[in-house]
Amino acid sequence: MNLHSSDLRQRDLASVWHPCTQMKDLERFPVLLVKSAKGVWLEDFEGKHYLDAISSWWVNVFGHGNERINQAIRQQLDLVGHVLLAGCSHEPVIRLSERLVEIAPEPLQKCFFADNGSSAIEVAMKMSFHYWQNSGKRKKTRFVNLSNSYHGETIGALSAGDVPLFKQVYEPLLLDTITAPSPDSYNREPGESALEFARRMFVYMDEILQKHHEEVSAVIVEPLVQCAGGMRMYDPEYLGMLRKACDLYGVHLIADEIAVGFGRTGSMFACEQAGIAPDFMCLSKALTGGYLPLSVVLTTDQVYDAFYAEYTGMKAFLHSHSYTGNALGCAAALATLDIFREENVIESNKNLTVEFARQTERFADHPNVADVRQRGMITAIELVRDRATNEPFPWQERRGLRVQRYGLEHGVLLRPLGDVVYFMPPYVITPEEIRMLVEVAERGIEHAVR
Ligand SMILES: *Cc1c(COP(=O)(O)O)cnc(C)c1O
Repeated sequence: MNLHSSDLRQRDLASVWHPCTQMKDLERFPVLLVKSAKGVWLEDFEGKHYLDAISSWWVNVFGHGNERINQAIRQQLDLVGHVLLAGCSHEPVIRLSERLVEIAPEPLQKCFFADNGSSAIEVAMKMSFHYWQNSGKRKKTRFVNLSNSYHGETIGALSAGDVPLFKQVYEPLLLDTITAPSPDSYNREPGESALEFARRMFVYMDEILQKHHEEVSAVIVEPLVQCAGGMRMYDPEYLGMLRKACDLYGVHLIADEIAVGFGRTGSMFACEQAGIAPDFMCLSKALTGGYLPLSVVLTTDQVYDAFYAEYTGMKAFLHSHSYTGNALGCAAALATLDIFREENVIESNKNLTVEFARQTERFADHPNVADVRQRGMITAIELVRDRATNEPFPWQERRGLRVQRYGLEHGVLLRPLGDVVYFMPPYVITPEEIRMLVEVAERGIEHAVR
């Protein structure tokens, strides 16, 4: 370690409180100090390179230092960096809204911006509730979610989620949500298909809606993959059944595509694979290519119209964030959408998906691997103590963290979710880099399960 980076590390420890981190861990596992980044590679102050296998927390899609996105941000910077979006507007936010409406499922027509994923969830929840208030359905005050779901960290978004590790301690502060068992196919019985399991689990959702629909504002789900819950995946038909039930019972459907949107599951939006459109679709993370904080909630004209009235009718949605619709973020998002359109990304990603499938075949019979699962550009390997019974390792042993440490020593940035090792890289990764990545992960897993 050179003098400069050891100095930075000390100063970091003295003043920076890192997110989602037990700070005491950093005594033993120092942070990776990133000096620069290009494509899928991060470089530290010693000139060592690390493959960013998790897209810097699922945000980056076209690589770090992407020339096209950099250029778009620079150009916008010379015009206007930021201006408030109440009573003012700007070209990037107008063009971005048009483009999003164009590519989103059919009845989504209006874009409400915020500046991070959790805030988008708050917007969708408040808008749904407020829609029913404006429509005279005053009893609709509750939300239905899935077990093991994740929707962010602010109080409302945390209420909507169900990962105990993040939620439990704050329980006394949270909204009282109704939780239906997840269709996550990891939990299916031997011999049962993912589809059969999804149908079986939907019965519980249907019962909840039948019983509680008069007090339910919306059902909120992560379409197809519950990412923070351990990259758990489920059959698209669940979403089809859910859409029908929401229509039948008069309940909104909120699709949280913050992680799965923009091609992660193999289609631009995960909802497309079920052929459905939600009433609210939340986007963030890859929206700006992974450069700048920005989020958006798309909704229907039907929802929009319920707020449209004379001011004195007191029906407006009076929600805002200071950096709502930031112009630099919108410029980065437009450049990102240009790349999607012009480079046929969804189609060419299929080769990478096949390479991940081929490379991870090696784990199929591993005694400590319970499951290898894949949807589009997300591939996950679930480690267990005993494959025969799916008995997990005691969480205190932090096996996943051992894989992470091994990866860092060998030029790969991984960040397992508990004992689920996963790959969710930028789409500019090459087949050779996939092979290198999986090889390091394999050796890391051997090291961790010993
Ligand atoms: C990351 C994430 C969020 C929260 O987004 P932030 O920008 O981190 O607040 C919400 N929902 C899902 C599915 C996510 O993965």
